[in-house]
Amino acid sequence: TADGYISSSAECGTVLISLRKAGILPSLEDLLFYTIAEGQEKIPSHKFTTALKATGLRTGDPRLKECMEMLKVTLKTTSDGALDRHLFKKCVQTNIVLLTQAFRRKFVIPDFQSFTSHIDELYENARKLSGGQVADYIPQLAKFSPDLWAVSLCTVDGQRHTVGDTKVPFCLQSCVKPLKYAIAVHDHGTEYVHRFIGKEPSGLRFNKLFLNEDDKPHNPMVNAGAIVCTSLIKVSSKACGNEYVGFSNATFQSERLSGDRNFAIGYYLKEKKCFPEGTDMTSILDFYFQLCSIEVTCESASVMAATLANGGFCPITGERVLNPEAVRNTLSLMHSCGMYDFSGQFAFPVGLPAKSGVAGGILLVVPNVMGIMCWSPPLDKLGNSVRGIQFCTDLVQLCNFHNYDNLRHFAKKLDPRREGGDERVKSVINLLFAAYTGDVSALRRFALSSMDMEQRDYDSRTALHVAAAEGHAEVVRFLLEACKVNPDPRDRWGNTPMDEAVHFGHHDVVTLLQDYHSKYSPQESTVAGDKEDGREEPGRHAVKPHPVH
Ligand code: GLU
Repeated sequence: TADGYISSSAECGTVLISLRKAGILPSLEDLLFYTIAEGQEKIPSHKFTTALKATGLRTGDPRLKECMEMLKVTLKTTSDGALDRHLFKKCVQTNIVLLTQAFRRKFVIPDFQSFTSHIDELYENARKLSGGQVADYIPQLAKFSPDLWAVSLCTVDGQRHTVGDTKVPFCLQSCVKPLKYAIAVHDHGTEYVHRFIGKEPSGLRFNKLFLNEDDKPHNPMVNAGAIVCTSLIKVSSKACGNEYVGFSNATFQSERLSGDRNFAIGYYLKEKKCFPEGTDMTSILDFYFQLCSIEVTCESASVMAATLANGGFCPITGERVLNPEAVRNTLSLMHSCGMYDFSGQFAFPVGLPAKSGVAGGILLVVPNVMGIMCWSPPLDKLGNSVRGIQFCTDLVQLCNFHNYDNLRHFAKKLDPRREGGDERVKSVINLLFAAYTGDVSALRRFALSSMDMEQRDYDSRTALHVAAAEGHAEVVRFLLEACKVNPDPRDRWGNTPMDEAVHFGHHDVVTLLQDYHSKYSPQESTVAGDKEDGREEPGRHAVKPHPVH
């Protein structure tokens, strides 16, 4: 604005972008480069991919396709497999928004690595359990080793983590029920679907031949309700981001052969006119058995769960697969009816929507945070995976994911949604503290988060003052060259960073500041305008930017 102040953060964002474009402020690509390079001239490609994985992103993420393709092509042109600033920019620029978000720790689980180390511990803990029976009513299920155990998760930002046998295909079985119901509501609306099916836990075994007082199935999570639901839908594989979805024809045939109870339910439903008019009950039963026989891996199913956690948008493709109302209904019914006759007991300590299946899967949803798939074939007496139940219970005991956990006052639990302090880093204290301790990587992250690197404390001290006084040459270099801060701010006693460096005898810092001055001084005076008064912050910014969030 005319008086040099910026009145709104939107305006401020625009100003920052134009300063970046004009080369006055470093570009986001450059800031990302500094963040990952950690002071080196070049980034070896493995360093980039390791840093990327630490944020939870995968190199195979469909949202990073352009970046990864460009990286492959670019690396062939280098002799050492490393990227300088220019090559790095070329690779990241098309996906810079997602990458910046990742490295600014703006994802729902900011400290992904520490979270996943907890997950691995819980996984190990449940692995030791030996109880339970692998389902053996059909050979396709009986063949699985009781030792198989896998956990995969995908957050609403598409951060992925997997541990154990996460690439082994298994059938969804009853875990497909919530998806069928969600599709039915998505296609026809809540009112229509519930003309045919209730919303109440049945209090009876999932395959009981029984209807409610209105002669409707109790809910879509038990067989009768799921069979009616099947008569309302067509399916697609979009919910798992086009990752592994297969079909076990052998399971389908076996289910049909051993499906007398389901046929009995089908005939009963037909007698009671539970289907839409014109439904061919036996072909619906075939479709029901086919849907039970859809194969997934723990990994691909975690993306389905994440789509449910994310209001129906697949986190890794961004595609809208289901509408939010369909998803909300589904989560409600999973919460009350998803775990067979254990649903109430599960909902009590875990407080999260989940659905289990006879193959040993438990699809668990932490709404607005992540989807999780647990898979281990041994089942308890009620038909739930023994290890899966343990994992879900342990997870919620550790983290404040229970629907009714208080997020403000219940400090005993871990809150993985909140970073150790990144919310507070906006304050000048953190900036100066990082400068004081010489924590360049923290400073790089602050800069990437559009923090104003020229902020002053109440003594008008800047990060540059503090770093110069402490003799942290690397910090001084970063602030000058990457952040292009004003080299000569004066604190309330009139001292500049140069004064500090001289005073405390940090000769390397003195040399750095001198070199910087001799390099930039000529342009400096034209850009800065009022060089006489250091107190007015004559830096290279035309206006003083405020942090943008
Ligand atoms: N195919 C099984 C049935 O319909 C599914 C069982 C289950 O996963 O609960 O009986």
